[in-house]
Amino acid sequence: MTAEGHLLFSVASLIMAHKLEITTELAQGDWLHMVPGVLLGALLPDIDHPSSIPGRLLRILSIPISKLCGHRGFTHSLIAWLLLMIACYQWLPSQWAIPNDLLQAFLLGYISHLIADILTPSGVPFLWPLPLRFCLPLLRSKSNKRAERFVAIALTVCACLLPAGYNFDLHSQFDSVIKYIHNQIDTYLPT
Ligand SMILES: [Zn+2]
Repeated sequence: MTAEGHLLFSVASLIMAHKLEITTELAQGDWLHMVPGVLLGALLPDIDHPSSIPGRLLRILSIPISKLCGHRGFTHSLIAWLLLMIACYQWLPSQWAIPNDLLQAFLLGYISHLIADILTPSGVPFLWPLPLRFCLPLLRSKSNKRAERFVAIALTVCACLLPAGYNFDLHSQFDSVIKYIHNQIDTYLPT
């Protein structure tokens, strides 16, 4: 997928996450933080390709990553995304005071890139280092700009049409699943 396709797809994902209120930060965050965050996250996975935008800006990182893992390798995996999440929340110096809405939008942009690449014929090694490639080739050609624009614009329109205050609230969804599991354990394994 082209950089333009990834940028459009990430903006559609951000509007959808905002409308669905996936997290409080994405629901109430500042667009001036979230838009740059999501765009940055959407470009970063292609740092494994030296002629991509992040690859050209950070050649010092891009060339070794490309030689070690190849294009659409480690950086296009769940592990890379999880490491990035740990880096954002544990390793970033607290005095940098990066807003939480920007960090969450950045992580959303990164995962939107992986999902968008799944829609192309090459797919992505989502469970890297396992050699499985996840692929749902709705976009037949790797650089079919028209199809990419169409999918991204259709997603943006769908996201805009979602009713406000839908409140998907991922945190409470997880919370209720964990409570359910606890209850089941208490029922079947009484102490
Ligand atoms: Zn990619």
